[in-house]
Amino acid sequence: MPVSIREHIQTVHQRITNACQQSGRSVRDVRLLLATKTVAADQIRQAIAAGETLIGENKVQELRDKDPELTRLPIERHFIGHLQTNKIKEVLKYVSCIQSLDRLELAQRLDQQLQKSGKSVEVYIQVNTSYEASKYGLPPEKVLSFIQSIRTLDTLRIKGLMTIGLLDVDKEKMRPSLRILSQIKDQIHDQAIEGVENLKLSMGMSQDLELAIAEGSNLVRVGTSIFGNRFSGREIWKE
Ligand SMILES: *Cc1c(COP(=O)(O)O)cnc(C)c1O
Repeated sequence: MPVSIREHIQTVHQRITNACQQSGRSVRDVRLLLATKTVAADQIRQAIAAGETLIGENKVQELRDKDPELTRLPIERHFIGHLQTNKIKEVLKYVSCIQSLDRLELAQRLDQQLQKSGKSVEVYIQVNTSYEASKYGLPPEKVLSFIQSIRTLDTLRIKGLMTIGLLDVDKEKMRPSLRILSQIKDQIHDQAIEGVENLKLSMGMSQDLELAIAEGSNLVRVGTSIFGNRFSGREIWKE
């Protein structure tokens, strides 16, 4: 019999628990987000039945397609993919948080849309901590000034920073791209900017979640270890 989604989830929680113990952190400080790109709604429902409460999608189209089967379930949805400005209105129908805020124009357009409806949204600022040209995200040295320029947009609640770490067979090559995010967070906190307090770190995926937790992650985003291999991982890189 194939290993069920429920068992995969248990294994991932065990990995999270072990990683927290190893680095002396509380498991309550690390949340699991299920990265559900290409995953069918009925599989997502199995994960929810197993107790999961947070999913992340990369494409507005997938949010739309799966919505009828997920609506009224007790879950929170985040957007974790590259967001085009022409999809803003639609994405806001489905998600409470956008983890991939990576440019001023996007922030301004989100704010305009939210002003109209009198709503707000949580955001994480995506940072390209590995400096790979193929990845989205602000370069680390631009994050502080970016925060200064968006903090007056009060429909955006700045919750934290997000990165996709460098993937490599060598753990020690992966670590710096995770550590930088935590250093940026400390620098921002040092500035004591009003409304920008207690930032969280969204980092760590199937391959590097232990390392990410050791480097201070508060939110690990896991797909493959729970739902199996996708056809491709291209959706996290630039087209
Ligand atoms: C797909 C994806 C993940 C999960 O990656 P896995 O290696 O499948 O665990 C995490 N974050 C983002 C932004 C993704 O697109």
